[in-house]
Order: sequence, then structure tokens, then C-alpha cells
Amino acid sequence: MGPRSSNKRLLGIPAAEGVAEGPAHLLANPLLVSERRIAPAEIASELVRLDEALDSAESHFIALGEELGSQGRQAALEIVTVYRMMLRSPEIADVARRKISEEAAGAEWGVRQAIDEMRTTFAAMEDLYLRERGRDVEAVGDQVLRALLGLPAFRRGEGRVAGAIAVAFDFSPLEVARLVNDGAIGLVTETGGRSSHAAILARSFGIPFVAGVIDACTEVGSGGGLVIDGDKGVVVCNPSAETLGQFRRFRLRSLGRQQRLVALHDLPAVTLDGVTVALHANIAAIRQIGGALAAGAEGIGLFRTEFLYLDRPDLPTEDEQFRDACSALTALEGRTATFRTLDLGGDKLPLAVRIPEGHNPALGMRSIRFSFRRPDIFRTQLRALFRAAARGPMRIMFPLVSGLTELRETRRIVDEVKTELQREGVEHNPSVPLGLMIETPSAAITADHLARHCDFLSIGTNDLMQYAFAADRDNRDVDSLYHPLHPAMLRLIKLTIDGAASAGKPLSLCGDMAGQPLCSLVLLGLGLRDYSMNSSSIAGVKAIMRSCHAVDAQTLAMQALELDSEKDVEELAARALSKTLPPESFDNDLR
Ligand code: PEP
Ligand code: MG
Repeated sequence: MGPRSSNKRLLGIPAAEGVAEGPAHLLANPLLVSERRIAPAEIASELVRLDEALDSAESHFIALGEELGSQGRQAALEIVTVYRMMLRSPEIADVARRKISEEAAGAEWGVRQAIDEMRTTFAAMEDLYLRERGRDVEAVGDQVLRALLGLPAFRRGEGRVAGAIAVAFDFSPLEVARLVNDGAIGLVTETGGRSSHAAILARSFGIPFVAGVIDACTEVGSGGGLVIDGDKGVVVCNPSAETLGQFRRFRLRSLGRQQRLVALHDLPAVTLDGVTVALHANIAAIRQIGGALAAGAEGIGLFRTEFLYLDRPDLPTEDEQFRDACSALTALEGRTATFRTLDLGGDKLPLAVRIPEGHNPALGMRSIRFSFRRPDIFRTQLRALFRAAARGPMRIMFPLVSGLTELRETRRIVDEVKTELQREGVEHNPSVPLGLMIETPSAAITADHLARHCDFLSIGTNDLMQYAFAADRDNRDVDSLYHPLHPAMLRLIKLTIDGAASAGKPLSLCGDMAGQPLCSLVLLGLGLRDYSMNSSSIAGVKAIMRSCHAVDAQTLAMQALELDSEKDVEELAARALSKTLPPESFDNDLR
């Protein structure tokens, strides 16, 4: 496939899940413009050139907006709208004009300086959200420069985009939209991470994206073959025949496995010794409900509601959120949806509100803490959810509650909202079950107390690991510390399961480990009976449940709790799993 086989593996940040194989389509770096001064007599004509370029960039954004709007690409359309506003902002248009008229800069040089000044201001900001906006300024400026230089509206690499994996130093969100429209099947960048708009869009388009790959453009030759894994953040350049074979077998196995697993769709998740477990789906968009039901989900165990609203310049109204929740309930046809209230902050930064980050965003103003900081936003969502709850079965779940004091504060706000709805005579259901996510060690350790004051618990192991191992979940340098089967995690999970049981309250687990084959068996043995996971993992976990004995899983879990290293736990679980199902039944990864 590639000119030579280097089989070099590059590690980056998993920014959008999925795997892809195809030729690299390398895009040139952003435009370089050098200093050019003009004679006083040229100033007027340079100003005209600038105005024409601004008009041309705006027409381009308008046309793109219409195209995206007609395709229902709402998130991309809203970003285009923000770009049009930026284009005409004093910081770009007026500064460039001043550079031309007062400093005799050529139009390109004036625009370049205006962009650089604005970028420098953004880059110096502590707030990650604002730093990310620097990329948007670059994207807007790039469009004006392309118009001034008479270049096509989009930078292009060599060869076809269709069927290729686009590689660049950075992508603007608009480029992502354009590349996907042109048929790109994957994305790789040297910069960025999961919180960039480009990553959010890639996820919403469903194409894999590995960000933050150091020297990607140098390592990847244009046209050379690539295999990328957006779940693991791995890029393999010019893969060897063996890697390609491995990748293709993996895809075939996945496909074959998927087909075999479809047959399980209508069968219950019951172990050979008669223990029934519930398998729910995690979703972030209403349109994912169809896939969840097709995969055999009993309902939605985690609706990450914040993803409905990250990509828009304004906050959603109560009515909008009410309508969205009602649509989700209608699509579920009587199955239960567990709505998590807005989990903003950390790496999830909305366009519409500024979130103070401090030095450690993951340890700062995020999730329920932000909801307390902005009760107006929190209450609006709660009102919408309690109203929608009159239309179908739902539960409401609060993220990152670290202890009883926060739980009491949450309940106080909930009670006020219910009283308000009652007073206004608005139709609602005041008896919605209220639950907590167990995502911090403090919550896991005091799960028994917490469980007595709420209706259910759900363990969010993605964050629980982040806080148990003090390892930022978005930092590739500490990724190796993430071990769901680490003895510390097993103990925290066991404490939580026991805590919920002591209060007689239902418990589920909705972190990624719920869908991982090895983990699912150990979790069964620890006493978990309700799993929530990505839809694509449901059938596999069901197959495991249907071919094991819960009593064996319990013995496995008891042995695992005695072990002192994650490696030993993994080996033990792998041995047990291979007795249950043959290893080729599971997806592998490229790592
Ligand atoms: C978790 O932390 O495990 C979880 C399910 O929530 P999120 O991944 O959305 O933070
Ligand atoms: Mg979480």
C-alpha cells in the first residue's frame, strides 16, 4: 500500500473513536505571509483589496453555512455563524485596516499581523476554552488570506481526499466538515486534543481522529499508507503486511462477530446459573437511540446531555431541553432513560459560557460544582427534565458528587425546582428517581452514606480512575496509569457495590470498563447486575454473560481482590475469560 513499509507506530490522543485504513492525504501547513510594505499611493487600493477579501471570505462562509444547514449539520453550521461574526470583528477587520492605512502594510501582511496579535492574546489566556478559540481566529484569518492570494477556498493536499486519512498540523472545524463531505475516512493532527471543535465535529460525523501526534506531518508521507485507531490514539505509518493483515482480520472479526451477535439481540443477558443482568447504553445524542435499541439495550443508562449543547453559541432554553428529552423518551418507547445533568468543565467546554478553570481544570470548577456556581443553568435543565418526566420513564443523575454535603445541596435545589413547578401549575412528574455518579474516591468510600440519601448510584469509572490514580484522563503522558483492574479500583468498586447494597439501593456502572470483556466478568463477580456501555459493546458483554456462571465469576473476583498487582488480575481474568469464550470472539486493538 505505501511506498515502503516502516510500520512505525505513533501515539497521539484519541479524539474520535473508530478505526480506519487508507492512504494519507497530507495538507500543507497554514499559509506563511512575509512582511510587505506599500507606498502611500497604494494604500487606497490595498484597502479595497482587503474589503474584497473580507467579502469573499464571508460569501464562502455563507455558502458553506447553507450547504451544512441543508445537510442538517447543525453543530458545523453554528461554528460557521461564529466565524462570520469573527470575520467582521474590530480585532480582525479594523486592525488589518489600520495596519494598512497607518503602517503602510500590504493587505496580506496587515491581515497576518491582526491574526497574530489576536492569537497571541488568546494564547496567553489561562482558560483552555479561550486558548482553543485562537485556532478559530487562525481559521478565519486563513480564509481572508486565501482570498487575498487568489487561492482556492480550502487548502488541498495531493491526490484524492475520498477514502483517504487527512493529516495536518491542525484542522479548523470547517476543514473537518469539508474533508468529511469530500469523503475523508479519518483524521490525524499534530496539535489539539479532545476538546477542540475539530474533535467534537469529528465525533459528531463519526469518523476516527487521532490528535496530538508529534511530528505526524514529517513521519507520514503523502500517499503513504496509514492505519489509525481513534479509540486508542494510535497511528501506524506504512503498515507492514503483518500489521495490515492484523488490522483487516480485526475488522473482519468485528464484522463477523457483530453478525453472530445480532442473533443474541432478543435473548436475555442471563448467566448459565440463572443470574440476570441489565445491559443499558451510554449515548450523547438522541439519534444514537436507534443504534442502542438495535444493539439490544434495555434502555439508556447514561445520557451525556452536555453534548447536545456544547457546539452552540447560546444556551439551550428550557423548552428546547424539554423537547429534546421528550424526543428521547418517545424514541425509547417506554424504556427508561437516565439523564445525567450537564457535566460541563474539565475537557467539556461549551461555546456559550465561560467556565473558570484554575490551574487544574479536572480538579476545579466542573460538573455539579459548576451547576452550583450557575444555578440558573442547572435549574433550567432540571425544570425541563421534571416536565419531560411526565411523558415517560426517566431517572436523573448528578455527576461528580463528592460527598453528602454536595448531595444535600443538590436535593435542596431539586426541591425548590419542584415546588416552583407545582406553584406554577406546570405539568411535571415530581417522583423521578434521583441518583449520583460515583466518580471520586471520596464518594466511593462513603457510598453507603450517599446511597441512603438518593435513589440509585452509578459508578463512573472513567473519572474514578482519573481521581484514584491522580492521572489526567486527557494527558497522553499518563495514559499508562489507567488500569480498570488495578487492585485500588477493584476495592473502590467493591466498596460502592456493598454501600449501595447496605442501603438497598440499585447500582449500575457506566464507565468504559462496563463494556470491556475482561472487566465485565470481574464486575459480575463483584456483584454488579446493571451495566451501561457504548452500544457497540452490548452484544459482546451479553455473549459473555450467557456463557459463564455467576458463581465462577464470584470466585474469580474474590481471588482478584487478594492480588496485589493489576497485571496479575488481568492474567487471572484473561484465563477465566478464555475458558468462557474463545479469544477470537473479542475485538483486539492495535496497541
Ligand atoms: C465516567 O466518568 O466514567 C463517566 C461515565 O462519565 P464521563 O466519561 O462522561 O466523564
Ligand atoms: Mg465522568
